[in-house]
Amino acid sequence: MQWETVIGLEIHVQLQTKSKIFSGASTAYGAAPNTQACEVSIALPGVLPVMNTEAARLAVKFGLAIGAEINQRSVFARKNYFYPDLPKGYQISQFEIPIVGKGEVEIEMDGKRRKIGVTRAHLEEDAGKSLHENFDKETGIDLNRAGTPLLEIVSEPDMRSAEEAVAYLRKIHSIVRYLGISDGNMQEGSFRCDANVSVRPVGQSEFGTRAELKNINSFRFVEKAIRIEVDRQIDLLEDGGEVVQETRLYDSDKNETRSMRSKEEAHDYRYFPDPDLPPMILDDAFIADVKQSLPELPHERKERFIDSFSLGVQESDQLTQDKALADFFEEVNTTSAAGPRIACNWILGELSASLNNEDLEITQSKISAPQMATLLDRIHDKTISGKLAKEVFAAMWQGEGDADSVIEKRGLKQITDSGEIEAIVDQVLADASDQVQQYKDGNQKVIGFFVGQIMKISQGKANPQQVNEILRKKLD
Ligand code: ADP
Ligand code: MG
Repeated sequence: MQWETVIGLEIHVQLQTKSKIFSGASTAYGAAPNTQACEVSIALPGVLPVMNTEAARLAVKFGLAIGAEINQRSVFARKNYFYPDLPKGYQISQFEIPIVGKGEVEIEMDGKRRKIGVTRAHLEEDAGKSLHENFDKETGIDLNRAGTPLLEIVSEPDMRSAEEAVAYLRKIHSIVRYLGISDGNMQEGSFRCDANVSVRPVGQSEFGTRAELKNINSFRFVEKAIRIEVDRQIDLLEDGGEVVQETRLYDSDKNETRSMRSKEEAHDYRYFPDPDLPPMILDDAFIADVKQSLPELPHERKERFIDSFSLGVQESDQLTQDKALADFFEEVNTTSAAGPRIACNWILGELSASLNNEDLEITQSKISAPQMATLLDRIHDKTISGKLAKEVFAAMWQGEGDADSVIEKRGLKQITDSGEIEAIVDQVLADASDQVQQYKDGNQKVIGFFVGQIMKISQGKANPQQVNEILRKKLD
């Protein structure tokens, strides 16, 4: 049977506020356990939550960026459950009226644009952390994270493949990074994703029963986890079994998902409006002010790259997805005279490959934007050929210095002196009378042989254009 995959994502984004959502405690990452756990974070009796307006501002920023409805009156609710890292016994979240309502984002798959619906985005507080390492038969509790503001972004079940889910996740990641509302660090848990996955026979309109996958902390794992879960569900159904609605944990070491608990329903949480917090009212001036502060967004920057730099859709998409990469490109492009075409090719080519190889972010690049610009200028002003530029790039990456010093030290300057090139051409032609005869007999292909010999003798430094011209002149 043919199966169709259906995926909806719930993304938790830690908002970059200095203090927690309902108290003044710091949200900085990495402090010693429980040093940032105030009375509210540890839920002492009698304490009261006070809303941090900055968290609301960041949430609205996101809502406006995806063209979503903003609820100027939203309500906080208690989501009741027990867990050791949740000392209050409930999480303050939003249920019936979230701050951000329906919106949508556009993703691009193989050059085709698709819209993915966002159902809602609501504010809530993060829980603490249970620590298992370094505890013998015990569990440590760290409440530093308790109360960190989260924006939970819930998508419609609009994605139809693991690749689409990753494209959507990357798009949301890109948006929150552009907006500067979160650092988006997946390793540190500032950007987390649960994937709801189901399958149904192609042509069937009802959705199948879904499983919710937790614990996926990288883009690569999201794709792998969904793939493996889809395979599991299809196998199960084809063997006559049934998918049960449950929460499953993704184990990246074993590349498998396994059952964690049966899926709870909303009523299990006994949601009710939190009596300690009044409804949150945002006036028009507040919304207008946030609107004013919106920066250029990834899709806008992409269109600008296409229009002002004449770059392709795909490459503009690749360049603009990561704000830091787009900034790098723009810095190279304004510093160098080589033009956007060359800058794009090198940044998506050599530079991206080198970063990938070593699993580095663009912000950790071993070649800075001004250094890159100089390298491209040396190609542009014909000091070096594009081919030798790769050698220069590699040397720069290894820390041998900037472009000019590498070219100098390694003697890679292109030979553009026509007398010098002519001498090499004469030598090659004199040593290859057979091939010269072949050329005279009409075999154009031996040109390649001559060029190869000339490049060999000049160690790749002869200017290729001049080589061609001089060769033709001598032979014809
Ligand atoms: P819950 O509150 O129990 O997590 P929701 O109805 O809010 O459930 O849905 C959570 C996520 O699951 C949403 O992203 C939604 O798009 C997705 N989803 C719902 N039904 C399905 C399904 N049958 N297959 C895949 N994803 C689904
Ligand atoms: Mg959920």
